[in-house]
Amino acid sequence: MIAEPAFYLCSLMEKKVRVRFAPSPTGGLHLGGVRTVLYNYLFARKHGGDFIVRIEDTDQGRYVPGAEEYIFDTLRWCGLEPDESVQHGGAFGPYRQSERKESYRQYAEQLINDGHAYYAFDTPEELEKMRQDHRTNENPSPQYDHTIRMTMRNSLSLTAEETKQLLEAGTRHVIRIKMPVNETIRFTDMIRGEVVFESNTVDDKVLLKADGMPTYHLAVVVDDHLMQISHAFRGEEWLPSAPVHIHLWKYLFGLDQMPQWAHFPLILGPSGKLSKRDGAKYGFPVFAMNWTDPKTGELTEGFKEKGFLPEAFINLLALLGWNDGTEQEIFLKEELIEKFSMDRVHSAGAKFDYEKARWFNHEWIKKSAVGSLESGVRTLLEASGLNNIDSAKLQAGDYIGKGSLYTDS
Ligand code: GLU
Repeated sequence: MIAEPAFYLCSLMEKKVRVRFAPSPTGGLHLGGVRTVLYNYLFARKHGGDFIVRIEDTDQGRYVPGAEEYIFDTLRWCGLEPDESVQHGGAFGPYRQSERKESYRQYAEQLINDGHAYYAFDTPEELEKMRQDHRTNENPSPQYDHTIRMTMRNSLSLTAEETKQLLEAGTRHVIRIKMPVNETIRFTDMIRGEVVFESNTVDDKVLLKADGMPTYHLAVVVDDHLMQISHAFRGEEWLPSAPVHIHLWKYLFGLDQMPQWAHFPLILGPSGKLSKRDGAKYGFPVFAMNWTDPKTGELTEGFKEKGFLPEAFINLLALLGWNDGTEQEIFLKEELIEKFSMDRVHSAGAKFDYEKARWFNHEWIKKSAVGSLESGVRTLLEASGLNNIDSAKLQAGDYIGKGSLYTDS
């Protein structure tokens, strides 16, 4: 564990704090995503910095219409408005990566010129053949890596003349990073301390796709640099990508320019990583707001529609993986901003407990003025088919037990 404040406050003094949430618009926002937003937001507010939302939509195959709007609606409901985004503007736009498409190729070409990347012309059939030829019991999914690359069709295995001809003929190609061999890669994570990888275990990831779009790996590094991001916080599922990103930072901009990273722990449900399936099986929401998948029509329930107050929702999220070192559990947003610190974020997974989540909401409802709850309660009653709701009766509690209103809390 790295001690705060010495570790990162020194760099806070040099650079303005700029953090980002970088969702891919592929669906509704899961608890874990909103917690990432919240920790970014609290850190930015605490250090007088900027909170940016960047839409990472370079994987057009996974693009889901409506997901981007949903993300911003959720942030608005939670009261976690960014300073810069597609919707809020800012000096570092565009904030949607598909609109920055033209800016990435030059970095990929620079990597090729410097010997850190290469053109790869392999067809899908050739890639499949490679996987079949090298598949063994010990290695069920062979990767395009330093052991394989010279057997494939790329600018490392072909002559310069052959490569030139293929490029001039407009042959479909991607650009891959050339991961170094036998290197130990280290970085200091603000939550986990020193993290070590061996370069030989990392494959030669695609950086630029055949359609000219960057992959996440290239785009995240280029944009974190161009948007002057000082700290990059994301879920721990991105930890395996860290060695690729570190090399891109080293080759393109210099390691001293790299933001400080923190990888947040998973949120755990009853059966491992909290999933939509857990929510459906045990009857609790895992999304912030209702989300209907436009392709399948499938509805995933949200905390908002379940009657959670946004204050309660962010309070319970803040405590899923962090505490202030005391027994305190109920926090106003302003208190969270004052007390939040990265060294108190746990590295182990945080267990989500729906009964506890309801307890938070109950506490917040008790704290709320009756009038302030009226419109939310009215919406819930109307959604359960009750109409002509009388305001005076509502405030007097006559509707308790009706529709989907809790009767036990
Ligand atoms: N686009 C990535 C995601 O969808 C962002 C990861 C990051 O923050 O670097 O989660």
